Amino acid sequence: MIKVKCPICNKEIEWNSNNIYRPFCSERCKMKDLGGWADEKYHISSPLTPEDLEDERIVQEIEQALLNQSNNK
Ligand SMILES: [Zn+2]
Repeated sequence: MIKVKCPICNKEIEWNSNNIYRPFCSERCKMKDLGGWADEKYHISSPLTPEDLEDERIVQEIEQALLNQSNNK
């Protein structure tokens, strides 16, 4: 079982593919993150930073790990 911390409120949540808000704990936190993100991007209007890409890569790695886990059942 993989647990992750919600990047917004730091609450520990279970990572599973049924959680459509992952890596957030809830819709509220997801919207909060998207809101802040969009604001920033609109103002700066810059392409993705390496940090953004790193986040995306980590998300993909976790999803891949979960896929492997379910294949090994
Ligand atoms: Zn949260």
